[in-house]
Amino acid sequence: MKIAVFSSQSFDKRFLTLANQNYGYDLTFFEVELNPKTVALAKGFTVVVCFVTDQLNADVLHSLSEQGVKFIDLRSAGFNHVDMPAARQYGFTVARVPAYSPYAVAEFAVGLILSLNRKIHRAYERVREHNFALEGLMGFDLHGKTVGIIGTGKIGEVFCRIMHGFGVKLLGYDPVKNPNCQKIGLRYVSLDELYSQSDIISLHCPLTKETHHLINAAALEKMKTGVMLINTGRGGLTDAKALIAALKSGKLGALGIDVYEEEEGLFFHDLSSEIIQDDTFVRLQTFPNVLITGHQAFFTLEALTHIAETTLKNIQDFERGNLKETLLL
Ligand code: NAD
Repeated sequence: MKIAVFSSQSFDKRFLTLANQNYGYDLTFFEVELNPKTVALAKGFTVVVCFVTDQLNADVLHSLSEQGVKFIDLRSAGFNHVDMPAARQYGFTVARVPAYSPYAVAEFAVGLILSLNRKIHRAYERVREHNFALEGLMGFDLHGKTVGIIGTGKIGEVFCRIMHGFGVKLLGYDPVKNPNCQKIGLRYVSLDELYSQSDIISLHCPLTKETHHLINAAALEKMKTGVMLINTGRGGLTDAKALIAALKSGKLGALGIDVYEEEEGLFFHDLSSEIIQDDTFVRLQTFPNVLITGHQAFFTLEALTHIAETTLKNIQDFERGNLKETLLL
């Protein structure tokens, strides 16, 4: 069975090749993203292995189906980049890696909080220039603060456990209550109460029609002045223009983001010699209280090992008609 791996970076090749020692599949790596311009490359392949940067819209899915592709194997947990009704219409099997390492993302979210609060990223730059002045670097004790978690699934639960260790008060919002979080002491409240009570809000829900621009101007207005917002979920959970307005007014006291709604074509590339055309993104970078990373929360040794193993196991299960927990369609 021929397998095409799109959006493959050097680390994808390394981890998939290593895991493939146990499977012996015929893997072809394409560095380019799967999109209407590159979809012709998939001709002759039965399986396409895709990442969040690949465009699996109706047009691309139509072309994949015409070219004989049968199985879309996502090496990600999120699947908001797949037009699922179109995938169903063309009869694709679609699977994902539902849980590779909730620790990777949860620990990274905590890292953003600590860096933003204690200005570690700014202190690092200062000290490199032999500027040891402390003015502007003051933070606050996390102990005793209120942390609101939106989405208390696998990542939200690990984040909840870690934050509990800091001695914070935990509030949660999720249509499905997680008893493990409640045991730790998290109290489920309405979104409005979470907004009005939290000193720090962290987003761990999926991007869906309901959660698109969940954090908009109206939501920000309900928050405490000076609130810290952390987004390691998906960029589309927030309205970037509303975030900028709230940063300018001081309503938003700190913002840590690992994801950005228009990150496609931006993140995962070295654009250090290019002119960035996205003015909203560049404006966000100008704030001293904003910390942006390029979708790296998942990027740990353990997560990459697990992603590679599950991706290949999914292909084996597809061949044998055994796909179960990882199956989306
Ligand atoms: P999960 O499915 O275990 O948990 C998601 C939780 O969100 C569930 O409990 C669900 O009930 C809840 N939810 C659904 N709709 C909601 C809503 N409207 N409001 C509040 N909560 C809602 O998923 P997970 O493994 O914890 O991952 C969460 C998200 O993190 C993923 O969907 C993905 O977008 C993102 N993620 C980001 C990275 C990264 O590298 N930055 C890596 C992995 C996952």
